[in-house]
Amino acid sequence: MQQTLSIIKPDGVKKGVIGKIIDRFESNGLRVAAIKKVQLSSFDAQAFYGVHQQRSFFNDLVKFMTSGPVVVIVLEGENAVLKNRELMGSTNPKEAKTGTIRADFAESIDANAVHGSDCLENAKMEIEFFFSKREIC
Ligand code: ADP
Ligand code: MG
Repeated sequence: MQQTLSIIKPDGVKKGVIGKIIDRFESNGLRVAAIKKVQLSSFDAQAFYGVHQQRSFFNDLVKFMTSGPVVVIVLEGENAVLKNRELMGSTNPKEAKTGTIRADFAESIDANAVHGSDCLENAKMEIEFFFSKREIC
């Protein structure tokens, strides 16, 4: 059993597809262990995406992630980290496989509907970034 962090990004929230995205998780064996809607500050987004600080797209990413509320979710299930990445599809929606969340709900590499932890170690850190122990159940 693993836990991983998913974020429905501002584009997904604005489009009104929160429920449709959560359905992808629940229909594929991932349980919602924690969930909340959050407006990230620039400070929050810079800290969360700290690993990308040196990348050319960092400022745009922070701007986008603070452009509206996001929905932060802890997903739990067997092989949850990889399973979530598979359900999400490639970072660039144009390259994402048919039937993945990004292929179906995302417009561009910036507005790509969802975030998902890329490994178990980062999942732990990202979950702790957003949730206290008592919020996860
Ligand atoms: P993923 O979200 O698939 O794990 P990364 O961790 O590599 O992708 O990047 C984090 C986020 O930064 C991406 O989801 C995307 O929104 C943005 N991003 C990544 N690469 C680019 C790029 N070349 N141009 C613009 N934005 C990018
Ligand atoms: Mg990533």
